[in-house]
Amino acid sequence: MTVLAPDQVEALRAALAAIVGDAHVLTTPEDVIAYGFDGTFFANTPPLVVLPGSTAEIAAIHRLANERRIALTPRAMGSGLSGGSVPLAGSIVLGIARLNRILAIDPIDRVAVVQAGVITATLQAAVEKIRAAAATLLLAERGLMESPLKGPKGNVEFLLRLAAA
Ligand SMILES: Cc1cc2nc3c(=O)[nH]c(=O)nc-3n(C[C@H](O)[C@H](O)[C@H](O)COP(=O)(O)OP(=O)(O)OC[C@H]3O[C@@H](n4cnc5c(N)ncnc54)[C@H](O)[C@@H]3O)c2cc1C
Repeated sequence: MTVLAPDQVEALRAALAAIVGDAHVLTTPEDVIAYGFDGTFFANTPPLVVLPGSTAEIAAIHRLANERRIALTPRAMGSGLSGGSVPLAGSIVLGIARLNRILAIDPIDRVAVVQAGVITATLQAAVEKIRAAAATLLLAERGLMESPLKGPKGNVEFLLRLAAA
């Protein structure tokens, strides 16, 4: 794998900025240094980091990288303990931290649909909120407190089932 020359990095930066926007392509040393290591002792600072905000942008980045034969190293929070998110010489980092939306949580079936960059603590907090809402509703249902929650009947029944589970 070849290391990118500065003019190649600049050309790549411009092409990627056209996909994700200027603010989401990092090339300055103080920005990229944080993307060069994980929980291991391996380290290799990448020349460029791209931070897509959607699946379509990720697909466009892959197409571009494939055309130019540039390797991509995917990275989430960089806490892996295998060196997997440390970019090898010549590769650039595709960071997924912007893909941080929880799309759906179904506590009854115990299924959560999240984007690839959601961190566990965020998901945990969201689940705890649902649990707390369910507990409040159950108390209200039993006349032990006034329910502050309003919503369609289906939602209320759903939360009550959760609280009783
Ligand atoms: C202090 C500490 C304690 C830990 N404790 C535990 C524990 O108790 N139990 C446990 O199971 N694990 C534990 N781990 C390991 C933890 O699970 C990993 O750190 C975690 O899986 C890494 O996730 P990440 O999002 O930070 O991924 P990264 O470190 O960014 O990446 C990990 C690998 O996945 C790839 N990758 C990342 N995102 C994507 C993506 N969207 N698509 C494709 N590939 C991708 C990367 O290229 C890399 O190869 C611990 C780690 C640390 C540092």
